[in-house]
Amino acid sequence: MKIYNSLTRNIEEFVPNEPGKVSMYTCGPTVYHFAHIGNLRTYICEDVLEKILRFSGYDVKRVMNITDVGHLSSDADTGEDKMLKGAQREHKSVMEIAKYYTDAFFNDCEKLNIKMPDVVEPATNCIDEFIHMIEVLLEKGYAYKAGENVYFDTSKLKEYYVFGNQNEDELMVGVRDDVSEDSNKRNKNDFVLWFTKSKFEDQALKWDSPWGVGYPGWHIECSCISMKHLGEKMDIHCGGVDNMFPHHTNEIAQSESYLGHKWCNYWFHVHHLNDETGKMSKSKGEFLTVSLLEEKGYDPIVYRMFALQSHYRKPLTFSYETLDQTAATYKKLKNRIALVKEEGAVDEAAVREWHDKFAEAVGNDCNTAMGLTLLYDVLKSDLNGSTKLKVIEDYDYVLSLNLLKADEPEAEAGDDELAAYVEGKIAERAQAKKDKDFARADAIRDELAAKGIIIEDTREGVKWKRA
Ligand code: AMP
Ligand code: ZN
Repeated sequence: MKIYNSLTRNIEEFVPNEPGKVSMYTCGPTVYHFAHIGNLRTYICEDVLEKILRFSGYDVKRVMNITDVGHLSSDADTGEDKMLKGAQREHKSVMEIAKYYTDAFFNDCEKLNIKMPDVVEPATNCIDEFIHMIEVLLEKGYAYKAGENVYFDTSKLKEYYVFGNQNEDELMVGVRDDVSEDSNKRNKNDFVLWFTKSKFEDQALKWDSPWGVGYPGWHIECSCISMKHLGEKMDIHCGGVDNMFPHHTNEIAQSESYLGHKWCNYWFHVHHLNDETGKMSKSKGEFLTVSLLEEKGYDPIVYRMFALQSHYRKPLTFSYETLDQTAATYKKLKNRIALVKEEGAVDEAAVREWHDKFAEAVGNDCNTAMGLTLLYDVLKSDLNGSTKLKVIEDYDYVLSLNLLKADEPEAEAGDDELAAYVEGKIAERAQAKKDKDFARADAIRDELAAKGIIIEDTREGVKWKRA
Protein backbone atom coordinates (compact mmCIF):
# COMPACT_ATOMS: atom_id res chain seq x y z
CA MET A 1 0.00 0.00 0.00
CA LYS A 2 1.33 3.39 -1.00
CA ILE A 3 0.26 6.68 0.49
CA TYR A 4 1.20 10.31 -0.01
CA ASN A 5 2.61 11.67 3.22
CA SER A 6 2.22 15.44 3.66
CA LEU A 7 5.00 15.33 6.22
CA THR A 8 7.64 14.25 3.71
CA ARG A 9 5.75 15.42 0.61
CA ASN A 10 6.36 12.03 -0.98
CA ILE A 11 4.40 8.96 -1.90
CA GLU A 12 5.67 6.32 0.51
CA GLU A 13 5.23 2.64 1.14
CA PHE A 14 2.90 2.44 4.12
CA VAL A 15 4.55 0.72 7.09
CA PRO A 16 2.55 0.78 10.34
CA ASN A 17 4.17 0.88 13.78
CA GLU A 18 2.78 -2.54 14.58
CA PRO A 19 2.59 -5.11 11.77
CA GLY A 20 -0.98 -5.68 10.60
CA LYS A 21 -2.45 -2.91 12.76
CA VAL A 22 -3.26 0.68 11.93
CA SER A 23 -4.07 3.50 14.30
CA MET A 24 -5.83 6.29 12.50
CA TYR A 25 -7.12 9.64 13.69
CA THR A 26 -9.53 11.97 11.91
CA CYS A 27 -10.22 15.57 12.82
CA GLY A 28 -13.96 15.59 13.31
CA PRO A 29 -16.53 18.29 12.60
CA THR A 30 -17.08 21.53 14.43
CA VAL A 31 -20.72 21.02 15.29
CA TYR A 32 -22.07 24.54 15.01
CA HIS A 33 -23.87 24.02 11.72
CA PHE A 34 -24.62 21.35 9.11
CA ALA A 35 -21.63 19.87 7.32
CA HIS A 36 -21.40 21.12 3.74
CA ILE A 37 -20.65 18.66 0.97
CA GLY A 38 -17.06 19.96 0.93
CA ASN A 39 -16.55 18.81 4.52
CA LEU A 40 -18.15 15.54 3.51
CA ARG A 41 -15.73 15.08 0.62
CA THR A 42 -13.01 14.93 3.24
CA TYR A 43 -14.95 12.39 5.32
CA ILE A 44 -15.72 10.25 2.26
CA CYS A 45 -12.01 10.12 1.32
CA GLU A 46 -11.03 9.26 4.89
CA ASP A 47 -13.69 6.54 4.95
CA VAL A 48 -12.27 5.14 1.72
CA LEU A 49 -8.75 5.18 3.16
CA GLU A 50 -9.91 3.25 6.22
CA LYS A 51 -11.77 0.72 4.06
CA ILE A 52 -8.82 0.25 1.69
CA LEU A 53 -6.64 -0.54 4.69
CA ARG A 54 -9.18 -3.04 5.98
CA PHE A 55 -9.64 -4.48 2.47
CA SER A 56 -5.87 -4.99 2.36
CA GLY A 57 -6.02 -6.98 5.59
CA TYR A 58 -5.11 -4.40 8.25
CA ASP A 59 -6.85 -4.27 11.58
CA VAL A 60 -7.74 -0.57 11.81
CA LYS A 61 -8.71 1.45 14.85
CA ARG A 62 -10.06 4.85 13.90
CA VAL A 63 -10.76 7.69 16.30
CA MET A 64 -12.59 10.94 15.61
CA ASN A 65 -13.17 13.95 17.81
CA ILE A 66 -16.19 16.19 17.82
CA THR A 67 -15.24 19.83 18.23
CA ASP A 68 -17.91 21.14 20.57
CA VAL A 69 -15.73 23.72 22.27
CA GLY A 70 -12.76 25.92 21.51
CA HIS A 71 -12.82 26.32 17.72
CA LEU A 72 -12.42 29.99 17.04
CA SER A 73 -12.78 31.23 13.51
CA SER A 74 -9.20 32.45 13.78
CA ASP A 75 -6.36 30.97 15.72
CA ALA A 76 -5.72 34.01 17.87
CA ASP A 77 -7.99 35.16 20.63
CA THR A 78 -9.56 37.48 18.11
CA GLY A 79 -11.81 35.22 16.06
CA GLU A 80 -15.36 34.35 16.82
CA ASP A 81 -16.22 31.23 18.77
CA LYS A 82 -17.99 29.08 16.19
CA MET A 83 -20.12 27.22 18.73
CA LEU A 84 -21.21 30.37 20.49
CA LYS A 85 -22.09 31.93 17.17
CA GLY A 86 -24.23 28.90 16.30
CA ALA A 87 -26.02 29.02 19.65
CA GLN A 88 -26.77 32.72 19.29
CA ARG A 89 -28.01 32.25 15.74
CA GLU A 90 -30.51 29.61 16.82
CA HIS A 91 -31.35 30.86 20.31
CA LYS A 92 -30.26 27.58 21.84
CA SER A 93 -27.62 26.55 24.32
CA VAL A 94 -24.19 25.54 23.06
CA MET A 95 -24.77 21.93 24.16
CA GLU A 96 -28.13 21.80 22.36
CA ILE A 97 -26.45 23.05 19.20
CA ALA A 98 -23.66 20.51 19.60
CA LYS A 99 -26.07 17.60 20.04
CA TYR A 100 -28.27 18.66 17.13
CA TYR A 101 -25.43 19.08 14.64
CA THR A 102 -23.53 16.01 15.82
CA ASP A 103 -26.63 13.92 15.08
CA ALA A 104 -27.09 15.69 11.76
CA PHE A 105 -23.46 14.95 10.85
CA PHE A 106 -23.78 11.23 11.51
CA ASN A 107 -27.07 11.18 9.68
CA ASP A 108 -25.30 12.61 6.61
CA CYS A 109 -22.49 10.09 7.05
CA GLU A 110 -24.98 7.25 7.07
CA LYS A 111 -26.56 8.46 3.85
CA LEU A 112 -23.13 8.57 2.24
CA ASN A 113 -22.16 5.12 3.54
CA ILE A 114 -19.39 6.62 5.66
CA LYS A 115 -18.61 4.12 8.36
CA MET A 116 -18.80 5.33 11.95
CA PRO A 117 -15.26 5.52 13.40
CA ASP A 118 -14.50 3.01 16.18
CA VAL A 119 -14.29 5.82 18.72
CA VAL A 120 -16.05 9.18 18.56
CA GLU A 121 -15.15 11.55 21.37
CA PRO A 122 -16.50 15.06 21.96
CA ALA A 123 -13.88 17.52 23.17
CA THR A 124 -16.00 18.43 26.20
CA ASN A 125 -15.52 14.84 27.49
CA CYS A 126 -11.77 15.27 27.84
CA ILE A 127 -11.16 18.47 29.77
CA ASP A 128 -9.09 16.65 32.42
CA GLU A 129 -6.78 15.22 29.74
CA PHE A 130 -6.32 18.68 28.20
CA ILE A 131 -5.45 20.18 31.57
CA HIS A 132 -2.96 17.40 32.22
CA MET A 133 -1.17 17.92 28.89
CA ILE A 134 -1.01 21.68 29.43
CA GLU A 135 0.43 21.16 32.93
CA VAL A 136 3.17 18.93 31.50
CA LEU A 137 3.94 21.45 28.75
CA LEU A 138 4.27 24.18 31.39
CA GLU A 139 6.53 21.97 33.52
CA LYS A 140 8.72 21.17 30.53
CA GLY A 141 9.03 24.84 29.66
CA TYR A 142 7.10 24.64 26.38
CA ALA A 143 4.28 26.84 27.61
CA TYR A 144 3.87 30.11 29.47
CA LYS A 145 1.15 32.10 31.15
CA ALA A 146 0.41 35.59 29.90
CA GLY A 147 -2.60 37.84 30.27
CA GLU A 148 -4.31 35.03 32.22
CA ASN A 149 -4.17 32.64 29.26
CA VAL A 150 -1.72 29.78 28.72
CA TYR A 151 0.25 29.82 25.46
CA PHE A 152 2.46 27.34 23.66
CA ASP A 153 5.95 28.76 23.13
CA THR A 154 6.95 27.96 19.54
CA SER A 155 10.44 29.43 20.05
CA LYS A 156 11.28 26.37 22.18
CA LEU A 157 10.93 24.05 19.19
CA LYS A 158 13.72 22.83 16.97
CA GLU A 159 11.34 22.76 14.03
CA TYR A 160 7.91 24.27 13.57
CA TYR A 161 7.12 24.61 9.88
CA VAL A 162 6.62 21.04 8.92
CA PHE A 163 3.84 21.18 6.32
CA GLY A 164 3.28 22.78 3.00
CA ASN A 165 5.61 24.87 0.96
CA GLN A 166 5.25 28.08 2.88
CA ASN A 167 8.43 29.61 4.13
CA GLU A 168 8.69 31.34 7.46
CA ASP A 169 7.99 34.80 6.05
CA GLU A 170 4.86 33.74 4.20
CA LEU A 171 3.55 32.01 7.25
CA MET A 172 4.07 35.11 9.33
CA VAL A 173 2.25 37.29 6.85
CA GLY A 174 -0.66 34.86 7.12
CA VAL A 175 -0.93 35.20 10.86
CA ARG A 176 0.29 38.73 11.42
CA ASP A 177 -3.15 40.36 11.41
CA ASP A 178 -4.43 38.09 14.14
CA VAL A 179 -1.31 38.18 16.21
CA SER A 180 -0.95 41.93 16.32
CA GLU A 181 -4.11 42.00 18.40
CA ASP A 182 -2.85 39.48 20.94
CA SER A 183 -0.03 41.28 22.70
CA ASN A 184 0.35 38.44 25.22
CA LYS A 185 2.18 36.27 22.71
CA ARG A 186 5.94 36.15 22.88
CA ASN A 187 6.28 34.85 19.34
CA LYS A 188 4.07 35.35 16.33
CA ASN A 189 3.14 31.69 15.96
CA ASP A 190 2.48 30.97 19.64
CA PHE A 191 -1.02 29.70 20.23
CA VAL A 192 -3.45 29.44 23.10
CA LEU A 193 -3.64 26.19 25.08
CA TRP A 194 -6.07 27.46 27.69
CA PHE A 195 -8.14 30.63 27.83
CA THR A 196 -9.27 32.19 31.03
CA LYS A 197 -9.50 35.66 29.70
CA SER A 198 -10.94 36.15 26.30
CA LYS A 199 -13.06 38.62 24.52
CA PHE A 200 -16.06 36.34 24.99
CA GLU A 201 -17.61 37.64 28.17
CA ASP A 202 -20.52 35.30 27.65
CA GLN A 203 -18.49 32.15 26.91
CA ALA A 204 -21.00 29.44 27.71
CA LEU A 205 -18.77 26.48 28.47
CA LYS A 206 -16.21 26.98 31.22
CA TRP A 207 -14.28 24.64 33.47
CA ASP A 208 -12.15 25.00 36.54
CA SER A 209 -8.43 24.69 35.91
CA PRO A 210 -5.14 25.40 37.72
CA TRP A 211 -5.08 28.69 35.77
CA GLY A 212 -8.61 29.78 36.59
CA VAL A 213 -12.03 29.14 35.12
CA GLY A 214 -11.82 28.92 31.36
CA TYR A 215 -11.79 26.69 28.31
CA PRO A 216 -9.28 24.95 26.03
CA GLY A 217 -7.82 26.13 22.76
CA TRP A 218 -8.77 24.17 19.66
CA HIS A 219 -5.58 22.26 18.84
CA ILE A 220 -5.09 20.59 22.21
CA GLU A 221 -8.19 18.41 21.76
CA CYS A 222 -6.88 16.42 18.82
CA SER A 223 -3.53 15.72 20.50
CA CYS A 224 -5.21 14.53 23.70
CA ILE A 225 -8.10 12.59 22.19
CA SER A 226 -5.86 10.70 19.79
CA MET A 227 -3.37 9.80 22.55
CA LYS A 228 -6.16 8.76 24.88
CA HIS A 229 -7.33 6.10 22.44
CA LEU A 230 -4.37 5.35 20.22
CA GLY A 231 -1.40 5.73 22.54
CA GLU A 232 1.82 7.67 22.09
CA LYS A 233 2.58 6.61 18.53
CA MET A 234 0.11 6.91 15.73
CA ASP A 235 0.17 5.73 12.14
CA ILE A 236 -2.11 8.07 10.19
CA HIS A 237 -3.64 11.45 10.96
CA CYS A 238 -6.22 12.82 8.54
CA GLY A 239 -7.99 16.07 7.76
CA GLY A 240 -8.72 18.58 5.02
CA VAL A 241 -5.84 20.65 3.62
CA ASP A 242 -6.96 23.73 5.51
CA ASN A 243 -6.13 21.85 8.71
CA MET A 244 -2.41 21.70 7.82
CA PHE A 245 -1.78 25.12 9.25
CA PRO A 246 -2.14 26.11 11.96
CA HIS A 247 -4.13 23.17 13.35
CA HIS A 248 -1.96 20.16 12.46
CA THR A 249 1.29 22.07 12.76
CA ASN A 250 0.30 23.03 16.30
CA GLU A 251 -0.89 19.52 17.12
CA ILE A 252 2.56 18.19 16.22
CA ALA A 253 4.29 20.95 18.15
CA GLN A 254 2.45 20.29 21.40
CA SER A 255 2.22 16.48 21.06
CA GLU A 256 5.91 15.94 20.36
CA SER A 257 6.94 18.41 23.05
CA TYR A 258 4.72 16.58 25.52
CA LEU A 259 5.88 13.11 24.48
CA GLY A 260 9.53 13.84 23.78
CA HIS A 261 9.46 11.73 20.61
CA LYS A 262 7.94 11.52 17.15
CA TRP A 263 4.19 11.17 17.30
CA CYS A 264 2.52 10.44 13.95
CA ASN A 265 4.17 8.92 10.87
CA TYR A 266 1.75 9.66 8.02
CA TRP A 267 -0.37 12.74 7.41
CA PHE A 268 -3.24 12.39 4.94
CA HIS A 269 -4.81 15.60 3.66
CA VAL A 270 -7.83 15.84 1.41
CA HIS A 271 -8.01 18.76 -0.99
CA HIS A 272 -11.00 21.03 -1.09
CA LEU A 273 -14.26 20.85 -2.88
CA ASN A 274 -14.94 24.25 -4.40
CA ASP A 275 -18.01 25.62 -6.02
CA GLU A 276 -17.83 27.50 -9.28
CA THR A 277 -17.29 30.79 -7.48
CA GLY A 278 -14.47 29.50 -5.29
CA LYS A 279 -14.08 27.92 -1.88
CA MET A 280 -17.16 26.38 -0.36
CA SER A 281 -18.29 28.10 2.77
CA LYS A 282 -21.13 27.99 5.23
CA SER A 283 -21.77 31.69 5.09
CA LYS A 284 -21.93 31.99 1.33
CA GLY A 285 -25.14 31.87 -0.74
CA GLU A 286 -26.74 28.47 -1.17
CA PHE A 287 -25.25 26.27 1.49
CA LEU A 288 -24.66 22.87 -0.11
CA THR A 289 -25.71 20.06 2.17
CA VAL A 290 -26.72 16.44 1.68
CA SER A 291 -30.33 17.36 2.52
CA LEU A 292 -30.32 20.03 -0.17
CA LEU A 293 -29.11 17.47 -2.73
CA GLU A 294 -31.88 15.12 -1.62
CA GLU A 295 -34.46 17.87 -1.92
CA LYS A 296 -33.29 18.38 -5.48
CA GLY A 297 -33.88 14.68 -6.16
CA TYR A 298 -30.33 13.28 -5.93
CA ASP A 299 -29.49 10.02 -4.21
CA PRO A 300 -26.70 10.96 -1.73
CA ILE A 301 -24.71 8.00 -3.03
CA VAL A 302 -24.40 9.83 -6.34
CA TYR A 303 -22.39 12.44 -4.45
CA ARG A 304 -20.19 9.69 -3.02
CA MET A 305 -19.58 8.45 -6.55
CA PHE A 306 -18.82 12.03 -7.64
CA ALA A 307 -16.15 12.19 -4.93
CA LEU A 308 -14.70 8.78 -5.85
CA GLN A 309 -14.29 9.74 -9.49
CA SER A 310 -11.60 12.25 -8.59
CA HIS A 311 -8.35 11.95 -6.68
CA TYR A 312 -8.33 13.19 -3.10
CA ARG A 313 -5.16 15.21 -3.69
CA LYS A 314 -6.73 17.35 -6.39
CA PRO A 315 -9.15 20.19 -5.75
CA LEU A 316 -12.58 19.32 -7.06
CA THR A 317 -15.16 21.72 -8.45
CA PHE A 318 -18.79 21.06 -7.79
CA SER A 319 -21.50 21.82 -10.32
CA TYR A 320 -24.98 20.41 -10.79
CA GLU A 321 -24.07 19.64 -14.38
CA THR A 322 -21.28 17.27 -13.35
CA LEU A 323 -23.45 15.81 -10.61
CA ASP A 324 -26.12 15.09 -13.26
CA GLN A 325 -23.53 13.31 -15.37
CA THR A 326 -22.50 11.26 -12.35
CA ALA A 327 -26.13 10.44 -11.61
CA ALA A 328 -26.56 9.12 -15.17
CA THR A 329 -23.31 7.12 -14.98
CA TYR A 330 -24.35 5.67 -11.62
CA LYS A 331 -27.77 4.66 -12.94
CA LYS A 332 -26.23 2.94 -15.96
CA LEU A 333 -23.75 1.14 -13.76
CA LYS A 334 -26.46 -0.09 -11.39
CA ASN A 335 -28.57 -1.26 -14.29
CA ARG A 336 -25.68 -3.14 -15.84
CA ILE A 337 -25.04 -4.86 -12.54
CA ALA A 338 -28.74 -5.64 -12.12
CA LEU A 339 -28.66 -7.55 -15.37
CA VAL A 340 -25.86 -9.86 -14.16
CA LYS A 341 -27.50 -13.13 -13.22
CA GLU A 342 -26.45 -15.52 -10.48
CA GLU A 343 -25.15 -18.20 -12.87
CA GLY A 344 -22.55 -20.93 -12.40
CA ALA A 345 -20.39 -21.70 -9.41
CA VAL A 346 -18.32 -18.93 -7.81
CA ASP A 347 -14.72 -19.21 -9.01
CA GLU A 348 -12.96 -18.51 -5.71
CA ALA A 349 -9.49 -18.27 -7.26
CA ALA A 350 -10.74 -15.61 -9.68
CA VAL A 351 -12.39 -13.72 -6.81
CA ARG A 352 -9.04 -13.62 -5.00
CA GLU A 353 -7.19 -12.58 -8.13
CA TRP A 354 -9.61 -9.68 -8.78
CA HIS A 355 -9.48 -8.78 -5.08
CA ASP A 356 -5.70 -8.40 -5.28
CA LYS A 357 -5.93 -6.35 -8.47
CA PHE A 358 -8.32 -3.96 -6.76
CA ALA A 359 -6.21 -3.76 -3.60
CA GLU A 360 -3.23 -2.81 -5.72
CA ALA A 361 -5.16 -0.26 -7.78
CA VAL A 362 -6.82 1.58 -4.91
CA GLY A 363 -3.86 0.95 -2.62
CA ASN A 364 -1.82 3.20 -4.87
CA ASP A 365 -2.46 6.38 -2.90
CA CYS A 366 -6.23 5.84 -2.82
CA ASN A 367 -6.75 5.75 -6.55
CA THR A 368 -10.52 5.36 -6.40
CA ALA A 369 -10.99 6.27 -10.07
CA MET A 370 -8.81 3.28 -10.95
CA GLY A 371 -10.96 1.17 -8.63
CA LEU A 372 -14.05 2.22 -10.59
CA THR A 373 -12.30 1.34 -13.85
CA LEU A 374 -11.60 -2.14 -12.51
CA LEU A 375 -15.25 -2.51 -11.64
CA TYR A 376 -16.12 -1.94 -15.30
CA ASP A 377 -13.42 -4.44 -16.26
CA VAL A 378 -15.16 -7.02 -14.06
CA LEU A 379 -18.44 -6.37 -15.84
CA LYS A 380 -16.76 -6.70 -19.23
CA SER A 381 -14.83 -9.83 -18.25
CA ASP A 382 -15.79 -13.37 -19.14
CA LEU A 383 -16.27 -14.38 -15.51
CA ASN A 384 -19.54 -16.20 -14.91
CA GLY A 385 -22.43 -14.27 -13.35
CA SER A 386 -22.03 -15.63 -9.81
CA THR A 387 -18.32 -14.83 -9.76
CA LYS A 388 -18.91 -11.34 -11.12
CA LEU A 389 -21.46 -10.65 -8.40
CA LYS A 390 -19.09 -11.90 -5.74
CA VAL A 391 -16.27 -9.63 -7.00
CA ILE A 392 -18.63 -6.65 -7.20
CA GLU A 393 -19.74 -7.29 -3.63
CA ASP A 394 -16.11 -7.41 -2.57
CA TYR A 395 -15.26 -4.09 -4.30
CA ASP A 396 -18.33 -2.44 -2.88
CA TYR A 397 -16.90 -2.86 0.61
CA VAL A 398 -14.48 -0.06 -0.30
CA LEU A 399 -16.57 1.87 -2.82
CA SER A 400 -19.76 1.62 -0.73
CA LEU A 401 -21.99 2.59 -3.64
CA ASN A 402 -24.85 0.16 -2.87
CA LEU A 403 -23.94 -1.64 -6.08
CA LEU A 404 -25.96 -4.74 -5.30
CA LYS A 405 -28.82 -3.02 -3.57
CA ALA A 406 -31.95 -3.41 -5.66
CA ASP A 407 -33.45 -0.02 -5.01
CA GLU A 408 -34.57 0.79 -8.51
CA PRO A 409 -37.50 -0.91 -10.20
CA GLU A 410 -35.43 -1.92 -13.23
CA ALA A 411 -32.89 -3.59 -11.02
CA GLU A 412 -35.56 -5.83 -9.58
CA ALA A 413 -37.17 -6.62 -12.86
CA GLY A 414 -37.72 -10.27 -13.58
CA ASP A 415 -38.22 -11.41 -17.18
CA ASP A 416 -41.83 -10.26 -17.39
CA GLU A 417 -41.15 -6.96 -15.75
CA LEU A 418 -38.10 -6.44 -17.91
CA ALA A 419 -40.15 -7.16 -21.04
CA ALA A 420 -42.84 -4.71 -19.92
CA TYR A 421 -40.20 -2.10 -19.24
CA VAL A 422 -38.48 -2.57 -22.60
CA GLU A 423 -41.78 -2.56 -24.51
CA GLY A 424 -42.69 0.67 -22.75
CA LYS A 425 -39.39 2.23 -23.83
CA ILE A 426 -39.88 1.00 -27.40
CA ALA A 427 -43.31 2.64 -27.51
CA GLU A 428 -41.81 5.85 -26.12
CA ARG A 429 -39.14 5.73 -28.81
CA ALA A 430 -41.73 5.20 -31.55
CA GLN A 431 -43.60 8.26 -30.30
CA ALA A 432 -40.38 10.29 -30.21
CA LYS A 433 -39.69 9.33 -33.83
CA LYS A 434 -43.22 10.27 -34.80
CA ASP A 435 -42.62 13.64 -33.14
CA LYS A 436 -39.36 13.89 -35.08
CA ASP A 437 -37.50 14.09 -31.78
CA PHE A 438 -34.65 11.93 -33.00
CA ALA A 439 -32.32 12.96 -30.22
CA ARG A 440 -34.82 11.58 -27.71
CA ALA A 441 -35.25 8.41 -29.78
CA ASP A 442 -31.48 7.86 -29.81
CA ALA A 443 -31.27 8.59 -26.11
CA ILE A 444 -33.83 5.85 -25.42
CA ARG A 445 -31.87 3.39 -27.55
CA ASP A 446 -28.69 4.31 -25.62
CA GLU A 447 -30.50 4.00 -22.31
CA LEU A 448 -31.57 0.47 -23.24
CA ALA A 449 -28.09 -0.39 -24.52
CA ALA A 450 -26.64 0.70 -21.21
CA LYS A 451 -28.92 -1.84 -19.56
CA GLY A 452 -27.69 -4.54 -21.90
CA ILE A 453 -30.72 -4.44 -24.21
CA ILE A 454 -30.24 -4.20 -27.95
CA ILE A 455 -33.10 -3.07 -30.17
CA GLU A 456 -33.37 -3.63 -33.89
CA ASP A 457 -35.74 -1.99 -36.33
CA THR A 458 -37.04 -4.77 -38.59
CA ARG A 459 -39.81 -4.99 -41.18
CA GLU A 460 -41.92 -6.76 -38.60
CA GLY A 461 -41.43 -3.91 -36.19
CA VAL A 462 -38.93 -3.30 -33.39
CA LYS A 463 -37.31 -6.39 -31.90
CA TRP A 464 -35.17 -6.55 -28.81
CA LYS A 465 -32.73 -8.94 -27.20
CA ARG A 466 -30.19 -9.07 -24.42
CA ALA A 467 -26.69 -8.10 -25.47
P1 AMP B 1 -14.82 21.78 10.29
O1 AMP B 1 -16.17 21.24 10.62
O2 AMP B 1 -14.82 23.19 9.81
O3 AMP B 1 -13.83 21.57 11.41
O4 AMP B 1 -14.28 20.92 9.04
C1 AMP B 1 -14.45 19.54 8.96
C2 AMP B 1 -13.50 18.95 7.94
O5 AMP B 1 -13.81 19.41 6.62
C3 AMP B 1 -12.04 19.31 8.17
O6 AMP B 1 -11.24 18.14 7.94
C4 AMP B 1 -11.77 20.36 7.13
O7 AMP B 1 -10.42 20.40 6.78
C5 AMP B 1 -12.63 19.88 5.99
N1 AMP B 1 -13.03 20.91 5.01
C6 AMP B 1 -13.39 22.19 5.24
N2 AMP B 1 -13.75 22.81 4.09
C7 AMP B 1 -13.64 21.90 3.09
C8 AMP B 1 -13.86 21.89 1.67
N3 AMP B 1 -14.32 22.98 1.02
N4 AMP B 1 -13.60 20.75 0.98
C9 AMP B 1 -13.16 19.64 1.62
N5 AMP B 1 -12.94 19.57 2.95
C10 AMP B 1 -13.16 20.67 3.69
ZN1 ZN C 1 -7.91 18.12 14.72
